[in-house]
Amino acid sequence: MVTLTDIRSCCGCTACQAVCPREAISLVPDALGFKYPKVDMDRCTDCGLCEKVCAFVRPLPELQLPVAKAARNKDEQSLMRSRSGAVFPVLAEHILTDGGAVYGAVMDEKFRVLHKRAVTLEEADLFRGSKYTQSDMGNVYKAVLDDLKKGITVLFSGTPCQVHGLSSYIPSILREKLILADVVCHGVPSPYVWRDYILYQERLRKGKVVEANFRDKNEYGWKEHRETYRVGDKLYTDMSYTYLFYKHIMLRPSCTICPYADIKRVSDITLGDFWGWQNAVPGFNDDDKGVSLVLLNTEKGRHLFSKCESQLFTRDVQLSDCLQPNLQHPTKPHHDTDAFTRDFTEKGLTYVMKRYGDKGWRYMVYSTYMNIKRTVKKWLKR
Ligand SMILES: Cc1cc2nc3c(=O)[nH]c(=O)nc-3n(C[C@H](O)[C@H](O)[C@H](O)COP(=O)(O)OP(=O)(O)OC[C@H]3O[C@@H](n4cnc5c(N)ncnc54)[C@H](O)[C@@H]3O)c2cc1C
Repeated sequence: MVTLTDIRSCCGCTACQAVCPREAISLVPDALGFKYPKVDMDRCTDCGLCEKVCAFVRPLPELQLPVAKAARNKDEQSLMRSRSGAVFPVLAEHILTDGGAVYGAVMDEKFRVLHKRAVTLEEADLFRGSKYTQSDMGNVYKAVLDDLKKGITVLFSGTPCQVHGLSSYIPSILREKLILADVVCHGVPSPYVWRDYILYQERLRKGKVVEANFRDKNEYGWKEHRETYRVGDKLYTDMSYTYLFYKHIMLRPSCTICPYADIKRVSDITLGDFWGWQNAVPGFNDDDKGVSLVLLNTEKGRHLFSKCESQLFTRDVQLSDCLQPNLQHPTKPHHDTDAFTRDFTEKGLTYVMKRYGDKGWRYMVYSTYMNIKRTVKKWLKR
């Protein structure tokens, strides 16, 4: 039976819950909203299936080095509605046109991030954009299994741990029609911090948030990282959630020991932002509208990409030109992570934004010090 001695050993993929024949496992949120399995001892027969399916703690299978590409959607409207180079919508369109099903992360009307199934282009459109919080998987693993049993081709997108959990859960005999697309992943931030942050924005702006964008490319360009919130017909920007994200203080603990933060991937195709494109493909993204890094990890991934290439601008690149940090090692946690979690639980979001974020005197002092340091450095260089 699944037992957690170290919470870092659970990525919350839900494979254990999905595989349990007695429905003895539920996923229960902790103080930050990260879900962990809880076993109902009255139902559990200790059959061991949940341990067998847990992929996160086991050594990775033998993996190949990928073929790397820079890519961008030829349709500019589509490009601007996605996070990077809008490669994922092209893959999704191909699968849907062929009668398949696509799975990905959406933000619902309450700004909760969850995984859904799509069989139309309109449904798949909601997968666009990176939602920087852990997506709630609900029962999608079982839905994928049902699709595959019916012979439907499935394109499943998610973080590397979500795709690896899924492939571990799906019996190998049914995996032929399953295509796995993962994202290069920095780590997933807390769902409850995100939930409370929306409420904070509503108090601050004195109105209901009707649209939220974790990273608004249309307003600020691809390389900037600025959040935007629409309240009524006004668009506001802020940086506080982003600041805590990049401080690595509200990530799921398992992200800090992530075995998938490597150039060899567990999916068929990996999508990311192409940081360092200037050296690898000069001129490709001069307009700052976005460029994807695509890693083709398996024959299945290469085949799907080749079918979609006519809708994309693509260039071959060397692996050595695209080795961003999360393709080499997991994100290192901030040393105040435990204190942040305790304070968020006991004192709430406003307190932690002042104590650890960019809203209090500590940040003011720090940023003033950094500005002075930068000015002195510039002055000395003259
Ligand atoms: C939490 C997170 C961290 C990331 N960190 C990095 C990074 O460090 N470096 C980097 O290069 N790229 C990172 N990415 C990937 C990048 O931001 C883009 O998602 C990716 O390049 C796809 O862009 P696109 O334009 O092709 O697709 P889009 O059309 O923008 O589609 C977005 C895709 O991401 C999936 N997705 C969105 N949010 C989530 C979520 N919360 N959980 C699981 N899947 C989700 C959707 O299902 C869809 O497949 C991260 C993405 C996420 C969600």
